[in-house]
Amino acid sequence: MAAPRIIRTVCDPNCHANPRCGIVAHVLNGRIDSIQAGRFPVEAYDRRVCAMGMARLEQQYHPERLRYPLQRVGARGEGKWQRLSWDRAFELLSERLHAIGDEHGSRSLAFFTGSGAAGVLTKGSVQRFAAAIGGTGYRAGGVDYGVPKGLEYTFGIPASTYFRPGGHEFADSVNSKLILLWGGNPADTRLVDFHFVLEAQRRGAKVICIDPNRSATAQHADQWISPRPGTDTALALALLSEIIANNLHDRNFLSRHTNAPFLVRRDNGQFLRNEASAYLAWDASRVRAFPCDEVTAPALTGEYRVKTSSGTIIDCVPAFQLLVELCANYRAEHAAEITSIPADIIRQLACNIANAKPAAIRIGYGVDRWYYADYCARAAANLAIATGNIGIPGGGISVHDGTYAAPLNLVPFRTPGGREAASLDVIGLMKAVEHGDPYPVRSLWLSASNMFNQTSANRRRVLREIVPKLELLVVVDQFMTDSAALADIVLPACSIFEKDDLIAGMFLQLQRQVVAPEGESKADLEIMTGLAERMGLGQYFDRQPDDYLRQMLDSNDPLLSGITLERLQREDAVMLNRPAAPYVGLADLRFKTASGRIEIYKEDLLKHSAELPYYREPIEASPDNPLHGKFPLTLLFSHSRHRIHSSFANLSKAKQREPEPLVEIHPQDAAKRGLAAGQMVRVYNQRGDVELKCRIDANLRPGVVVISEGTWVKDFAKGEPYSLTHEQVSATSDNYAFFDTLVEISAMSSDAE
Ligand code: SF4
Repeated sequence: MAAPRIIRTVCDPNCHANPRCGIVAHVLNGRIDSIQAGRFPVEAYDRRVCAMGMARLEQQYHPERLRYPLQRVGARGEGKWQRLSWDRAFELLSERLHAIGDEHGSRSLAFFTGSGAAGVLTKGSVQRFAAAIGGTGYRAGGVDYGVPKGLEYTFGIPASTYFRPGGHEFADSVNSKLILLWGGNPADTRLVDFHFVLEAQRRGAKVICIDPNRSATAQHADQWISPRPGTDTALALALLSEIIANNLHDRNFLSRHTNAPFLVRRDNGQFLRNEASAYLAWDASRVRAFPCDEVTAPALTGEYRVKTSSGTIIDCVPAFQLLVELCANYRAEHAAEITSIPADIIRQLACNIANAKPAAIRIGYGVDRWYYADYCARAAANLAIATGNIGIPGGGISVHDGTYAAPLNLVPFRTPGGREAASLDVIGLMKAVEHGDPYPVRSLWLSASNMFNQTSANRRRVLREIVPKLELLVVVDQFMTDSAALADIVLPACSIFEKDDLIAGMFLQLQRQVVAPEGESKADLEIMTGLAERMGLGQYFDRQPDDYLRQMLDSNDPLLSGITLERLQREDAVMLNRPAAPYVGLADLRFKTASGRIEIYKEDLLKHSAELPYYREPIEASPDNPLHGKFPLTLLFSHSRHRIHSSFANLSKAKQREPEPLVEIHPQDAAKRGLAAGQMVRVYNQRGDVELKCRIDANLRPGVVVISEGTWVKDFAKGEPYSLTHEQVSATSDNYAFFDTLVEISAMSSDAE
């Protein structure tokens, strides 16, 4: 019997594992016989893989893999298809794209890549095509964007990076004395990295989990704090209030690295500047205002009257004074009324954070999916800032993971012939399709994206009023997802085992073709190349994958020095030329804000009355909302350890562990409604409804119900939960507030299992 060929490739979903796990395939007679975890040259990452990674084998040979191009023959979503040859598919697509582009302009052709695949060629080739045709590409925003936006306001790191350059590597957790896991459940969703938190705990760090529900992470934590959903900003302000009131804040850090000393005019909220536009601060020793950088004893609090060069007297206060005044409204007792966390717990937590240097804050997307998520991120960041936990090992505030970004030379690939695509985020895309604002989009190409599963809020309305405005919807995927089912043309995509690509993170790893594609599946680069040739754009797609990869690796950045394609082909995973110690964001204490300092006060957000991170009630899920009487339960979407959004949801491993969708409800709320475990219920609000079984769980907070996000629509008995969410987006966050959702539940029948 022939020995198997053993080839290493890379798992690459949107799980945020850093690095993504290697997968070693054993190939016998042209078929993958088994897979196992891949090697890394660093022990902490060696041979790690989660159940989803191991499910890649089932995914590869799944009977429902798409194997041929398909064209819709019935009504949209009716499920009637005819097989196409690739030649015919390219011909049809060329005709339709030309016709739509001629009628509505080339920007009306939108090309979006989702998070189902991460390869630079897979994602980049779609964006390259968008640029070549003069169309619209994808830009970050709309989803999971509120917290990064708040951190952008504070530290100047663009939200589009998801704050990776500002955060700390998960491995840095072992340096922390206190770890605050806020609105995230890494014990389920960062399975391969969570051991770093447990190691820190073993070394004596206190792990605190803030989550309305007693998640797997909360069960591992030393302390679980369960605020009313959507009140996290009030909690953060209260913690800050207690830290300041007890003089536990780091005045030196605030004075040197933040805009806390900048004088703010009482009359208009603007910073006081001199004629040279320098920010002024009050020098306590010289009893006068000077440019902040010249002040040796900057005042952080107090009221000051400053005489300008023209002789005008202006009443001012340091920015920090305004934060102190805001926090004074959120002492523990008052915050306890808002958040329902007892005042003594708030006080003790504040004390623990301030005294446990280094303390790390990791913010998850539970905090993000609210209308005012950016306010919450800013308030939480102020805790790390006020305690001097920025830029030090074991400290910081992170969303995702902090990491060195591989400085690949991507621009030439994304801008063929110097052409650049327009770009929209998901929210902008919906507006462009629905209202033609800022221009009409009439064709949408989705690759590795299940946008019409859970990504766009208020799904029922989106399907009723937005999708019909698309004259062409093309989906490139491995399965007939909820989005593919709505498409006009579906194209079969290669799996991680069927294409060559590069996965970039703190390691560079080649994704390698292990076996021939199933059926007629193609890699995105091959698809875009074929279509480009058909559409007269072949000159932009005339090179081989390796040529593009060589171009991307051609960089003078020291992080990439000596890393060539040939070296990547020889070695399993090549680490960037970086220090061995875990990445610590903002270690140089240089900030790309307008002032060059951390900005706890945002002058440019005065127009939104958001100069400070004020606490605002959720816009829907609040007892103050008249709708609360009718829909008194807050719906949260949990993330499963068996799926990444909708990826892997159709595999038997996921289905064995979560055989059917459930809504979880607290025993008190179930009793009030006469619900029994296992009973079919209807979850509903004014926008939509879903029918599914209920599970009664005392780990939940009363008043909160939970549905696991990412389940495919066809797996619900009737309806789906993604229509329950609303589309309102705040001016400062550009982010869907998926969790700000009120619902009610009623029994479908009295039968309990
Ligand atoms: S899904 Fe699992 S195996 Fe794949 S990269 Fe993420 S953690 Fe690793």
